[in-house]
Amino acid sequence: MNKINKVLIANRGEIALRILRACKELSIQTVAVYSTADKDLKHVRLADEAVCIGPHPSAESYLNIPALIAAAEVTHADAIHPGYGFLSENADFAQRVEESGFIFIGPRAQNIRMMGDKVAAIEAMRGSGVPCVPGSDGGLGKDDNQNIALANKIGFPIIIKASGGGGGRGMRVIEKEQDLLSSIELTRTEAQNFFGNPEVYMEKFLTTPRHVEVQVLADEYGNAIHLGERDCSMQRRHQKVVEEAPALGITPELRNRIGNICTAACKKINYRGAGTFEFLFENNAFYFIEMNTRVQVEHPVTEMITGIDIVREQILIADGQVLSFTQDDIVIKGFALECRINAEDANNFMPSPGKITQFHAAGGLGVRVDSHIYDGYSVPPHYDSMIGKLITFSDTRLGAIIKMQNALDEMVIDGIKTNIPLHARIMADQTFRKGGMNIHYLEKMLGDSH
Ligand code: ADP
Repeated sequence: MNKINKVLIANRGEIALRILRACKELSIQTVAVYSTADKDLKHVRLADEAVCIGPHPSAESYLNIPALIAAAEVTHADAIHPGYGFLSENADFAQRVEESGFIFIGPRAQNIRMMGDKVAAIEAMRGSGVPCVPGSDGGLGKDDNQNIALANKIGFPIIIKASGGGGGRGMRVIEKEQDLLSSIELTRTEAQNFFGNPEVYMEKFLTTPRHVEVQVLADEYGNAIHLGERDCSMQRRHQKVVEEAPALGITPELRNRIGNICTAACKKINYRGAGTFEFLFENNAFYFIEMNTRVQVEHPVTEMITGIDIVREQILIADGQVLSFTQDDIVIKGFALECRINAEDANNFMPSPGKITQFHAAGGLGVRVDSHIYDGYSVPPHYDSMIGKLITFSDTRLGAIIKMQNALDEMVIDGIKTNIPLHARIMADQTFRKGGMNIHYLEKMLGDSH
């Protein structure tokens, strides 16, 4: 390594463990940080050093920038990995980390800031030749007649979205003209309340799209490659439940075309690190919706089909190293699936924290378990309910599904409820087995059975 000898992991749970494993393989020392509710986390025990950064509310620990910087200072860390969620897409954090003399394992602060403002992101992407959803050019103005004319030009249904929005909030679908003006006002008010930014914009509402996203890696020196795409259409309330790679029906030509558009955009905006371009995909066309400037929960499916360790690459890029492969070196092979295992009731989705009395992981060729849980671990009630990810890999999509069925069957998590039964249902579902479902399919499948 050139500059990084010790990494502070500014996260918890499975992704903290994932980062720790990548560091160990690179012979990098690790510092775990944890809230008082998290002292028993697996990676805290495995890290070289561990620092308690505050009480369980995230605002006082995992989102507490001064506490994180202080922890990096006292442990003499060189770099900070933010994981996903928490401060991973907070441009001010990235900036503070670098101003304090540490390396931020992620993109430049200005890129994070640009992508956090969806109107700015779409403008930059349009300017870089990335196909976007037909919609307003920038934020909506106050002129009612102009907004009505614009909506009619785009054609109903349309969707009003908050420029500062995220996590599936701050969006409203409008079917007809008479609801338009009141809905714009309502979304503006919500946007101001939730995100502190009243700006909203308008897009055509695509009725049956799939969610297809492209993984990219870019280094400091203007080299950028893509690792193909993932299909994350199996969603409930805009939250991904099952992900797969590659996406069914994307030909190598289409993959290269959209992938090259994404890498060209990375070069144009001087992007660095790992990133994901999220698209809606309908009638064989891609429409950009947003870019995530961090590692994603579903990154393992891409790792399985490319053999590239994305977290390791993030660290090497942050260390100032040149990407060690070119686009031609990337070969997509086989199919991978990921089920997000949540501590929740599979029927009503109520969180189910508590003590895990018994845990047996699944195993075998092509089965990967990314999870921090163990026998006797207590899932705290304060954080996201995801307790791990089950990933399978095979030559064919059906092979990966069958492996997943067997792995779900093998997995035992006693003491709390999990959504394993839901995943078993999805794997057995005939439409899912056929593949190519749109983003509404899972909710329809769940609704039909209630
Ligand atoms: P967030 O940052 O809140 O996740 P996104 O812009 O990524 O917001 O959109 C989240 C989800 O909302 C998408 O995955 C899709 O399901 C739906 N969505 C967003 N824009 C549109 C659109 N123009 N047409 C149809 N669905 C959309």
